[in-house]
Amino acid sequence: MAPLVDAHCHLSWNCSLAPNALSSDHLRCVMSTNPNDWETLKKVEGVRKCFGVHPWYCHLFSFDENLDKRSHYAKVLEWKDDTEFESILSVLPEPVLLESYISQEFDPQIDAIGEIGLDKLFRLPQNGLYIKSSPLSRIRVSMSHQLAVFRRFCQLARTEGKPVSVHGVKCHGLLYDVCSQELMAYNINVCLHSVTASKETLKRWIKHYNKRIFFSLSQCINFKDPAAGRELVQMLPQECILTETDFPLDKYKNSELVQQLQYICGQIEIALDSSIDVPQLIYTNFCRYIESS
Ligand SMILES: [Zn+2]
Repeated sequence: MAPLVDAHCHLSWNCSLAPNALSSDHLRCVMSTNPNDWETLKKVEGVRKCFGVHPWYCHLFSFDENLDKRSHYAKVLEWKDDTEFESILSVLPEPVLLESYISQEFDPQIDAIGEIGLDKLFRLPQNGLYIKSSPLSRIRVSMSHQLAVFRRFCQLARTEGKPVSVHGVKCHGLLYDVCSQELMAYNINVCLHSVTASKETLKRWIKHYNKRIFFSLSQCINFKDPAAGRELVQMLPQECILTETDFPLDKYKNSELVQQLQYICGQIEIALDSSIDVPQLIYTNFCRYIESS
């Protein structure tokens, strides 16, 4: 029997784990989103590992070593109220030079680049970091900075021949444009995780990316309304569907995660209305996604 596939999951901020703590019967493709979760992930065994910077953490990275902390954050953040900016500046860490981070931490053994992407709705929490519940500020990260970080990781995927796992919120047109400029001609597989794009955008991806685009479906986003989830399944090519939890593995029991993956497979089976072996289909799709070019 094919193993269940969690094509997009996480570790929590600053979690520390024994190297074999995450081994499981199902296949786990674990994202990194910032230097803290990467520090743990790189030591973990028995999972597929991804290297990236999530748009929610991209403000922590700088392209210019000559900028001091204040100048960096003033450049990449957008705010209206100076007091709010000052208070967030006081809690934010020194920025990290993105090129140094990549050259020191990128490991050619990793399986994919992720989680990377663009998020138009994101506002910084008042503690400056998306760690644990903190009220949201009104401060945003400029789209131009998000784009620069996203493009840099697309280029890394291209030069290293790795697939990407992508987050997109309310900027699906822009996301599509960047991927078609940076990745399409280079045969890089793209996974849109918990995708929320319009039908028109999805059709565009399917038409132009052909079998190199993958859609990883989660219970909490894509099957929040099960009927809408099944409708989405029906419009996707079968060979492009993946399953995911998008959850931090260290915060949940294995059985809870398995239950979610089984639920999604069950919904896909109903949607396809056939005797198809869904876990086998998803596993085959994942192997094609991760093997890349
Ligand atoms: Zn994610």
